[in-house]
Amino acid sequence: MDFELSEEHRMFRDSVRSFVDKEIRPVAREWEHAGRYPTEIVEKMKELGFFGITIPAAWGGLDADLVSMAILFEEISKGWMAIAGILGSHSLACRMIVNSGTEEQKRRWLPELATGVRRTCIALTEPDAGSDLQGIKTVAGKDGETYVIRGTKTWITNARYANPMPVLVKTNPDITPSHAGMSILMVEQGTPGFEVTKDIGKLGYKGTESCEVVFDDCRVPADNLLGGVEGQGLKQALGALETGRINIAARSVGIAQAAFDAALRYTADREAFGQPINRFQAVQLKIADMATQVQAARLLTWWAASVADTGKRADMESGMAKLFASEVAITCALDSMRLHGGYGYSTEFDVERLYRDAPLMAIGEGTNDILRTIIAKNLMKGL
Ligand SMILES: Cc1cc2nc3c(=O)[nH]c(=O)nc-3n(C[C@H](O)[C@H](O)[C@H](O)COP(=O)(O)OP(=O)(O)OC[C@H]3O[C@@H](n4cnc5c(N)ncnc54)[C@H](O)[C@@H]3O)c2cc1C
Repeated sequence: MDFELSEEHRMFRDSVRSFVDKEIRPVAREWEHAGRYPTEIVEKMKELGFFGITIPAAWGGLDADLVSMAILFEEISKGWMAIAGILGSHSLACRMIVNSGTEEQKRRWLPELATGVRRTCIALTEPDAGSDLQGIKTVAGKDGETYVIRGTKTWITNARYANPMPVLVKTNPDITPSHAGMSILMVEQGTPGFEVTKDIGKLGYKGTESCEVVFDDCRVPADNLLGGVEGQGLKQALGALETGRINIAARSVGIAQAAFDAALRYTADREAFGQPINRFQAVQLKIADMATQVQAARLLTWWAASVADTGKRADMESGMAKLFASEVAITCALDSMRLHGGYGYSTEFDVERLYRDAPLMAIGEGTNDILRTIIAKNLMKGL
């Protein structure tokens, strides 16, 4: 058993780290506060092939394992988590197309998705259904060689750039159980009846857009049914969310590590009562707890990624990693803010951004309570 990264993984981590130091860190605070879209960073990530992280080499991707994906998301999130968001739903949707698409669909979309010429996302959530995906109301009726989609999706990250956008719909809304009538349709930008209607204001996760999307008699070719067979949509989406949870766990580790790094530096520099504050035992307790939790979260994330890399379903492992790491991100961001005193609350320090970005990790790709139910169901299997 080896808990260290391989030489190859270390080299990959070091190259991502230097990209983040050069291209992301210097602009993160200013661009985030300005709500500016990080176009230049996206262009650099295209050049580095990051948009192909979950795509096999045969389709022009990096063909990386999920441990590498976790490294990528951790390192980027140490600099600015929202940048990882631009890659996040794209990467999980690419993996979904790899796993579930027909050969023709893979040929049509994957090569350009791998280079970032095309980008994608995942449209599951609706105004009245998030955790309960079987309760979605978006429907798609077959009309000759097309499907006609009607409904609204919300909170869709990367909605303005996704082309195609995978949309979870009910192709047979009357069937029981509901999941047997659910499918994923790939909607291309510019399709009449498809409109991004609103950018949703957010506490954090600024830089990448989260949108409401309306489908008003939006007609897509029947060829755009993911996998070519109706009724597979929920299964396809849940398989993709497993990758998504590993990337959220890794982003959480990145936030937590950045919060810890900032606290370690600050408490060494800041003096009170005639000495650096890191000499106080109360401060040391926090520092020790943070470091321990970050490392535990990282190892759990790598473990979940390794299990998923074997090709087995890793719902429980990725759920445990995302649950634990996201709570660590929230705790570390708050503790780092406490250790920074008043400066932690200032927009001139990065800790306030970490504090605003961390809670999303407990919501996205399944809330932590939903994950607890998934973990428990897996543990109780076979009883
Ligand atoms: C910034 C941001 C970006 C997002 N990006 C995307 C995206 O790209 N694509 C996408 O499809 N969605 C996206 N989402 C949506 C996100 O996945 C959902 O918000 C999340 O799944 C929760 O769904 P909900 O908001 O409808 O909450 P609800 O499902 O209404 O849950 C509300 C509360 O009830 C609890 N709850 C519900 N059911 C149960 C249960 N059975 N047992 C215990 N507790 C339960 C939940 O844990 C939660 O605490 C994004 C959300 C945010 C905030």
